[in-house]
Amino acid sequence: MNIIILGQQGSGKGTQAELLAKKYGLDHFDAGHALRQISLLDTPLGKEVNEIVMVKKELVPSRLLKEVLHIRLNDLGREQGMVFDGVPRNLEQAIYFQEALREFGRKIDQVIFVNISKEESLKRIGKRFSCEKCKEAVALTGNGKKLVCSKCGGKLVQRSDDTKEGVEKRLSIFEAETMPVIEYFKKERLVSKINGEQSKEKVFEELLKKLNA
Ligand SMILES: [Zn+2]
Repeated sequence: MNIIILGQQGSGKGTQAELLAKKYGLDHFDAGHALRQISLLDTPLGKEVNEIVMVKKELVPSRLLKEVLHIRLNDLGREQGMVFDGVPRNLEQAIYFQEALREFGRKIDQVIFVNISKEESLKRIGKRFSCEKCKEAVALTGNGKKLVCSKCGGKLVQRSDDTKEGVEKRLSIFEAETMPVIEYFKKERLVSKINGEQSKEKVFEELLKKLNA
């Protein structure tokens, strides 16, 4: 089983990917996390990724993403299912992705699109903080919570581009670049669209229904 989960900023796709990975024992491939891990390595690839992602803060080229995916695929047994969280982000990445999977005798079985409105996205991102140290993202709920990371105790900060303008910009990039990926997989009848504006439990329930259908 190889599943892609896509969704707008704040759609909760990462949480759904995590729940899905846990339920079916899938490997959770979070590209951002994988790239940060690679960037720490003292190898030519690690240095290159570090330069692009951490220093220049640019979008990693598809060829590097493919290399990172290759490393992961190499580490996994062929029967090990995977869930891809938030990638591929654009059509070029989608092509590289499928190429890499094919080389390992895999194919995408389903694409889950967790959809939320622009208003919901803006509302949720406004409450989102992430850890300065391990970069883990958390949503603040209620008052009086201490602003420390539940995983490593690091300081929680709001991303500097989590402003209304920043979110709007990322939403328009999603519309322009990631929606074509969804359209592309739609032609292969692989896409299931899910209403992301429910509790995470309800979203997961709907996801499982669509997955088993
Ligand atoms: Zn942390």
